[in-house]
Amino acid sequence: MTDNADIAALIRTIPDFPKPGIQFRDITTLLLDAKGLAATVERLAALHPGPFDMVAGIEARGFIFGAAVAQALGTGLVLIRKDGKLPGRTVAVDYALEYGEDRIEMHEDALVPGCRVLLIDDLIATGGTALAAIRLLRKAGAEVGGAAFVIDLPDLGGAAKIAADGVPVAALVP
Ligand code: 5GP
Repeated sequence: MTDNADIAALIRTIPDFPKPGIQFRDITTLLLDAKGLAATVERLAALHPGPFDMVAGIEARGFIFGAAVAQALGTGLVLIRKDGKLPGRTVAVDYALEYGEDRIEMHEDALVPGCRVLLIDDLIATGGTALAAIRLLRKAGAEVGGAAFVIDLPDLGGAAKIAADGVPVAALVP
């Protein structure tokens, strides 16, 4: 399981999306491939030693992989959403973007305090989103036992920040 070149080959790079100069890693081509999708889910679920009580998926592509990993691990899925999308009472965290601020939320009654959560997203870049998600899960009383990503862009340093925050971090594809 050291060679994830088969998964990497199914991810394409789209230049200048969503704005000029950005090389966007597009996982929709990976989702189209039945074997690639199954291998991704199986390997994501195996990146960290369990047991986990819950998987947390970050909007929006983290929902796709998160739901599948939750099923593989036999857990439920908690949604970490952008501001204003969840209907019930929420707990929120604000975090800095390159320009401005953003807010993520989850339902305040979603987690049993002390539960061990596996955080899932498609990609980690600067780590800002994942760090905010970890703060949010901790605010809700959870222990974040691992963070798993399909893609890590190591030059941007996000994974190192997650590790420095005390959360084991791993990804399938550089
Ligand atoms: P970060 O907060 O680590 O800088 O950015 C990670 C977040 O932005 C993730 O939720 C991820 O879905 C999204 N993201 C940023 N760049 C890309 C990209 O090139 N491809 C994909 N699929 N997602 C990206």
